[in-house]
Amino acid sequence: MSTSPPNSFLDGATAGSIAASFGTPVYVYDSETLEANAQAALDFPNAYGLTVRYAMKAAPNRAILKQFCAAGLQIDASSGHEARRAMAAGFPAGAISLSSQELPEDFDQLHRQGVAINACSLHQLERFGAAFPGGEIGLRFNPGAGSGGNNRTNVGGPSSSFGIWHAWIDQVKEMVDRFGLKVVRIHTHIGSGSDPAVWQTIAGMSLDLVRQFESVHTLNLGGGYKVARMEDEVGTDLQACGAPVAEKFREFAAETGREIKLEIEPGTFLLANACSLLAKVQDRVSTGSEGYEFIKLDTGMTEILRPSLYGAQHPIRIVQQEPRAGQRAYVVAGHCCESGDILTPAPGDPELLAPRLLPLTEIGDLCLIDGVGAYCSAMSTKHYNSYPEAAEVLLDGDRQPHLIRRREDPEALWANEIRID
Ligand SMILES: *Cc1c(COP(=O)(O)O)cnc(C)c1O
Repeated sequence: MSTSPPNSFLDGATAGSIAASFGTPVYVYDSETLEANAQAALDFPNAYGLTVRYAMKAAPNRAILKQFCAAGLQIDASSGHEARRAMAAGFPAGAISLSSQELPEDFDQLHRQGVAINACSLHQLERFGAAFPGGEIGLRFNPGAGSGGNNRTNVGGPSSSFGIWHAWIDQVKEMVDRFGLKVVRIHTHIGSGSDPAVWQTIAGMSLDLVRQFESVHTLNLGGGYKVARMEDEVGTDLQACGAPVAEKFREFAAETGREIKLEIEPGTFLLANACSLLAKVQDRVSTGSEGYEFIKLDTGMTEILRPSLYGAQHPIRIVQQEPRAGQRAYVVAGHCCESGDILTPAPGDPELLAPRLLPLTEIGDLCLIDGVGAYCSAMSTKHYNSYPEAAEVLLDGDRQPHLIRRREDPEALWANEIRID
């Protein structure tokens, strides 16, 4: 078996036995990595208390939710369905906060159960006020700056629809007064960043919003911490980014007498490098000397969409019984009849092919795609070409694999269809 880089939890031998037991494609999560990431998040520097919320849209499997619940994390839900899913996994309603693009019809029920609501638009604020005059609410603002990698990951600034644009604060105050609301939280989430200076700026801008509302006791700075999946990428040092943030909170307290609690909401940071996708090479084609060598996997955008969507880069490892000498540049293709189903796009440009240097590969070799814990099993073109949902496995602390989601029966794909013939 070929060896794996030291930063990966899954070696070739374990991959081989998991493929034999559970088939491919299969997501393999590592509970030790999840635990270590949760602890790192809980160690985020803070001045007056910290709540860490898991942004569960990154990977909402019950086993992951349960592990994070036991570790002391709370939940950031992006829809009413997520809030209910977290409760079904054992989170009390009071440990869930909802920041959604679509405020659910039944948000009033969720809120009565104890789910905290962050109004993410003026319309949401008005609906909340009408339903709960005098109630306690959080406000999600778009503070006017974003640091996402591209327009598809940017969640702040004028080209982003998330949150209430900071300039509409007078309208917010009018509505808060009209309904007698008590604003208890300010929320900002401005996208992937690993630069402590940007963090400090954002914390300052967000505290300026806190200043506008006397009753606010908590500031939520969202998630979006960049992680390094590839060796040449730079991840976020939470200690380095958090220290100037805590300093800003102390300055704010010295100036206003208000000791504001901090909330953070990582998704990617907790999950990204805690999962690998195990697949099989099922074909190999060539388009000749002017073209490319392709290897085709038994997975693709049905399990991992990020390369096609953003030109995201993921480590790809070929697992061979007998390591073969020699390397070759391959375009790694997925199994969907869709030319965009490519796992080796150019960085940041899903339109361009960037062949990857890999060991000489044969049909039947196993292939590991690393860094797939966040926004892969949760965000894919699942069911395209009628491929059933892949299985998910969790390695426990003794590295024993547990099936946490079985491979879908193909019949389940058409189970909701109604015959009219
Ligand atoms: C998606 C999301 C997060 C998590 O973002 P990551 O980039 O995965 O850390 C946090 N807060 C909110 C409101 C989100 O929508």
